[in-house]
Amino acid sequence: MRIIMLGAPGAGKGTQAKKIAEKYNIPHISTGDIFRANIKNGTELGVKAKSYMDQGLLVPDELVVDLVADRIQQDDAKAGYVLDGFPRTIPQAESLDAALAKMGQKIDYAVDVEVPDENIVNRMSGRRACVKCGATYHLQYAKPKAEGVCDVCGEQLILRDDDKPETVQKRLGVYHQQTQPLIDYYENQNVLKEVDGTKDMEEVFADIVSILG
Ligand code: ADP
Ligand code: AMP
Repeated sequence: MRIIMLGAPGAGKGTQAKKIAEKYNIPHISTGDIFRANIKNGTELGVKAKSYMDQGLLVPDELVVDLVADRIQQDDAKAGYVLDGFPRTIPQAESLDAALAKMGQKIDYAVDVEVPDENIVNRMSGRRACVKCGATYHLQYAKPKAEGVCDVCGEQLILRDDDKPETVQKRLGVYHQQTQPLIDYYENQNVLKEVDGTKDMEEVFADIVSILG
């Protein structure tokens, strides 16, 4: 099963993608997590990506499309995957389609997690992230067992620089301009499924499972 998660930053794509990956036993591929791991390790890609991410801008398409094309060809992705944060532009979607066509594959579902802009700033300012293992928490809605510490790996949790309110507004603008057109793109491919992301996490997941089967 090959799934794409769509939705504004903070809509809950990562939260749901992790649950989907676990239930259907497929890898969760988050381009944001890949960039953050590269930043942490000080790679050339990380240094380039950081300058865009810190400003709330998208990393240029050429830095992300080949990376994803390689990742989806790895052995663990043979039975499918859930892509989180990619594609984010029409050219990225077209290059993904071209890579899939070469492999004789296609996307089965594009799940759009719908959350209005007014809920997003609260979601993002309360998000706490683990840059070591990629786990995500929320100060109100998904508290870690011990304050400020990752349940999974014990690392200190952080407020991502790009989750600060001024950057969130910028990211929302970028989302509406560059990423939202993907909703029509996948609707035209007859794979779009919309879910109400304002419900609580378990309810959103139940709605997704009823779609995926
Ligand atoms: P995205 O991957 O779309 O940027 P996340 O999955 O990281 O978003 O979710 C953003 C924040 O909102 C996180 O702190 C997460 O714990 C919280 N969150 C996710 N889904 C819900 C929900 N349905 N209700 C309340 N908070 C949520
Ligand atoms: P995320 O963790 O998905 O919220 O992504 C964090 C940041 O990483 C984004 O605001 C972008 O700067 C960058 N990023 C992640 N995925 C992509 C992508 N597919 N294309 C461009 N930039 C991306």
